[in-house]
Amino acid sequence: MSKSILVATANPFNQQAAKELGEATGSRLVDTPAGLRLAATGGRDAVGRLAVALADAMAHALAAGGADRFGTCAADPCRCAYLDRTRGGRQRYCCELCNDRMAAAAYRRRHRPSPAES
Ligand SMILES: [Zn+2]
Repeated sequence: MSKSILVATANPFNQQAAKELGEATGSRLVDTPAGLRLAATGGRDAVGRLAVALADAMAHALAAGGADRFGTCAADPCRCAYLDRTRGGRQRYCCELCNDRMAAAAYRRRHRPSPAES
C-alpha cells in the first residue's frame, strides 16, 4: 500500500489533493523507514493529535489485515468496535469481559432446569 500511495502522490494533481486534505485535517504524510505515516502538523490540540494518530493506526491496520479484520462486538448489548488480531481471524467479542460474559450466559442456558424439572 505504501508504494501505491507514493505512486499516487507523485501525480501533481494528487499532490495538490494530498496538500488540501492535509490542510483540512491538520495532518500530512511523512515517508519514514517504517513506511508512510500520517503525522499531525503543528497547532493541533491533544484531541486533534490523537485523532490523527488514530487515523494513522487504522490505516496501517487496514493495509496490513484488510477490512475483514475490523468488527463489532457480538455480545449483547455491547456494540464496541474491535480490530481482530487473532491468528485465525475469527474474533467475535471486543474484550475478555464480553467473551466471559457471553460464555457464562451460554453455560447458564445449557444448565438451566427444564420446566418439567421445576
Ligand atoms: Zn464487547
